[in-house]
Amino acid sequence: MPIRIPSAGTLLNSHDLLKALSGLWHHHSHTFQAMLRTRLGKSYIIVVNSGTTACYISLKAIAASRTSRREVVIPAYTAPSITLPIKKAGLIPRLCEVSLDTLNMDPARLEEAIGPNTLCVMPVHMFGLPCDMDAIRKALPDKEMIILEDAASSFGSKLGNRETGALGDIGFLSFNRGKNLSTLAGGCIATDETLMYEHMEREKQKLPVLGAIDQLKLWLKLVGLSAAVRPIGYTLLYELVKRFKYTELHTDFISFQFPDVLAGTGVSLLNRGDDIFRRRYENGRLLQEALDGVDGIRLARPVDEAYTAYNQFPLVIENPSRRDALVDEIYRRTGVETTTLYPDPLHRIYDLGYPADDDPFPDATYISHRLLLIPTHPLMKQKTLVRVADIIRSPGK
Ligand SMILES: *Cc1c(COP(=O)(O)O)cnc(C)c1O
Repeated sequence: MPIRIPSAGTLLNSHDLLKALSGLWHHHSHTFQAMLRTRLGKSYIIVVNSGTTACYISLKAIAASRTSRREVVIPAYTAPSITLPIKKAGLIPRLCEVSLDTLNMDPARLEEAIGPNTLCVMPVHMFGLPCDMDAIRKALPDKEMIILEDAASSFGSKLGNRETGALGDIGFLSFNRGKNLSTLAGGCIATDETLMYEHMEREKQKLPVLGAIDQLKLWLKLVGLSAAVRPIGYTLLYELVKRFKYTELHTDFISFQFPDVLAGTGVSLLNRGDDIFRRRYENGRLLQEALDGVDGIRLARPVDEAYTAYNQFPLVIENPSRRDALVDEIYRRTGVETTTLYPDPLHRIYDLGYPADDDPFPDATYISHRLLLIPTHPLMKQKTLVRVADIIRSPGK
């Protein structure tokens, strides 16, 4: 049995865990918000229990500002769970084709997705790769249209010197398991728009607050997580951890205010955020260099000025059966867990009113059947990544 290397991981040390525990009597949420405000350079930050809740509250505020419009434009290939807050806010998801070059929403295809009923556009920085925000802004027929930026999986990525999550009118991040900086669960909203902020803050105040017992339970989970992300702990705990992995589509989500126990973890982790994000960037760059030009494999082309804190490193493998063979071989020979993620584009997972016979988003479909993700988290050793790249270049050797 090889040592398993999980696809996601942020190492929590004993200092992080103590800081988290002190959340039972300290208001770390205020500190965490202030740190995020500085980091993102935005006037207002609101922390909540998840990226999904952050998205939901943002959409409620946007919908209240333009009551007659109902459609939210999202990329055709992305996290299926994004549709939940859209629907819960009483809105309708509309899809935009993605680009095989960038793996993100294709600005050249935005026009087709936008109509008189479009409320806002929601670009998603997939895998940490920043979208071309200027091109997206330019492609909007109505320059006043709101851009809600989904930076749930791109915390730490930048365009020039501006952080993803701070590039739209409103942006949100996630601190869930598997994200670039994980406090177990959590998310935040960032904006400079005062009226929107006031609306969102009122929505947040309505959310339930977790009591001390629930927070203590979260702390125990953090302790469990700190063991479970280490390769040895992960290998031993795998059978147990497996049950906590998302295996099916969620149909609803819960919302509550961000607990101070998790905010304490956030404060502690964000103090070394630059180090965590740089490791993700460097791991991705190593893979980019090692895999550039390999036959039958497409790499995402980062947009100009992008600094990518890779959530995971994406490859599009032209032959789907080669992809499946690589997943097995990489695990067998290195213990590294790669992922293939969402098996279908959104219009094939849900009925969103698109035709079933003629595929309106062939590139999204193409990517969903061919994607392979290699972990880039700070626990990945560069030596291991070199071995993974060697296997991809010449499998079976
Ligand atoms: C994880 C994720 C979300 C949702 O964030 P949670 O904190 O898990 O609710 C939304 N969008 C994208 C792109 C994500 O990766």
